[in-house]
Amino acid sequence: KEEKRMSTTRKVKARTGTTLECKGWEQEAVLRMLCNNLDPEVAEIPEELVVYGGIGKAARNWEAFDAIVATLKRLEKDETMLVQSGKPVGVFKTHERAPRVLLSNSVLVPKWANWQHFHELDQKGLMMYGQMTAGSWIYIGSQGILQGTYETFASLAEKHFGGSLKGTITLTAGLGGMGGAQPLAVTMNGGVVIAVEVDPDRISKRLQSGYCDVSTESLEEAVLWAKEAKANGEALSIALLGNAAETHERLLQNGLEVDIVTDQTSAHDPLNGYVPVGYTLQEAAVLRKKDPGEYVRLSSKSMAKHVELMLQFQRKGSIVFDYGNNIRQVALEEGVEDAFDFPGFVPAYIRPLFCEGNGPFRWAALSGDPKDIYRTDQLIKELFPENEKLLRWIDMAQEKVQFQGLPSRICWLGYGERKKMGMAINELVKKGELSAPVVIGRDHLDCGSVASPNRETESMLDGSDAVGDWAVLNALINTAAGGSWISFHHGGGVGMGYSLHAGMVVVADGTDLAEERLERVLTTDPGMGILRHADAGYDKAMKEADKHDIDIPMKRR
Ligand code: NAD
Repeated sequence: KEEKRMSTTRKVKARTGTTLECKGWEQEAVLRMLCNNLDPEVAEIPEELVVYGGIGKAARNWEAFDAIVATLKRLEKDETMLVQSGKPVGVFKTHERAPRVLLSNSVLVPKWANWQHFHELDQKGLMMYGQMTAGSWIYIGSQGILQGTYETFASLAEKHFGGSLKGTITLTAGLGGMGGAQPLAVTMNGGVVIAVEVDPDRISKRLQSGYCDVSTESLEEAVLWAKEAKANGEALSIALLGNAAETHERLLQNGLEVDIVTDQTSAHDPLNGYVPVGYTLQEAAVLRKKDPGEYVRLSSKSMAKHVELMLQFQRKGSIVFDYGNNIRQVALEEGVEDAFDFPGFVPAYIRPLFCEGNGPFRWAALSGDPKDIYRTDQLIKELFPENEKLLRWIDMAQEKVQFQGLPSRICWLGYGERKKMGMAINELVKKGELSAPVVIGRDHLDCGSVASPNRETESMLDGSDAVGDWAVLNALINTAAGGSWISFHHGGGVGMGYSLHAGMVVVADGTDLAEERLERVLTTDPGMGILRHADAGYDKAMKEADKHDIDIPMKRR
């Protein structure tokens, strides 16, 4: 009862400015980023502590949230708090160069690593689902995924359409926390997109934030608008209210020529993330509570159909790819034998970037002042004037991205570049050119931090897709290097049993100690990406290792 009362009345927002609630900027940064994850502008269902990605949460329950906050406020600069699946379980004296917080989220012993066992524990209050940046407190709203999605579509455009999506139609589904970036990422690349979404509130959110241009409940209208825009070479994003497993079938019957098909419904979680065909949102919510087993049976069946329809588009000539939600796996288990006939987005478009230690670098201004981020945008231009794609992204982001919660920025940077940028940000804080410290982190979807055979490590050259050691080593080395908070998670992105991954955040507070830590962590972290891909035999990664003089004792030749 108490939990319910608290959940309906709570509103969380990160403090801004330079007055601290904690005993140092590092602890303050953790507190602000935890609160920022639950800011109603940032989180998908903040009253339930859900940040994004199905039921990806920031804390196990409100009681645990309060305990984390209270502990952070009293945490000394030489202490480390331990958080087990969203609950603070201990504080130890460590030392100033150690992380202030270490987190482990949703990690289950492999034999028990499935949704069923997770839900049992979740219901008993023993676990929470941390997704990737939800439980590790470095989610920055849809901008975080926008850049990655922009990169993916840009890379696809390069590979198949001469560098632009102008005159193409993309079909996708899911306008949630992450999927909501798809419409803007496609229009930024000049294309037309129809994004099917079953929840009208999600559509409204994307229209309000400017991530999507128009919406309709009429499939015929969506088709008409898409064809018109394509013919005129205009970029346009259209949200279509409906269930993808149903609308995709009607679109095939309609004969609409679709160039690209993908999907970002929360298929990784058949109970909470995907709505079965024939159910309204309300009916689905009732069934989910009343008969979870039946819900999962129906949603899995719908996903199988959804994948079959994607395969039909592929046979008609569309470029089809999986966007990291594990929908192919569900379909395979439901008997769709050719479910994996279309590739995942990493082997198709992202792996060459991973071989360079390139990945989703992000930072947030603890001051709350957008001017601080605009100054760092300028810094990117000063440091990397030759990188045209990066500069184009910064200009577009400034123009199109509305900040959610604390102002933040993301861009993909490689080995060497991340250290350069991080240390330069620290210098700006030191000189007072930024009004407060900045936190620097990344998504777990990165080059050296994740083992996920249906996504980041799909089709590795040496078949090492399911080797989880790399993610563990990433968390360990970043802890040794002195990250400010380091996390290890299971099940993010693709669901229970399918991934292991690590997160890192380091605070640039303008001190010499921060400089030292930034230099180390922003070397070890992307360095893991190069090690991982060089070890798997990628030439590009081996060349990068040589170029940067990275010490690999048994380097292949
Ligand atoms: P979310 O739960 O916030 O959003 C999912 C959306 O799908 C919801 O809005 C829901 O209403 C909609 N939906 C569910 N069933 C539907 C159906 N049958 N038809 C149409 N719409 C339906 O999740 P999110 O954060 O947007 O993430 C989406 C998925 O993408 C997750 O599986 C996530 O793990 C994955 N993901 C992929 C990447 C990546 O690899 N690029 C990154 C992050 C997340």
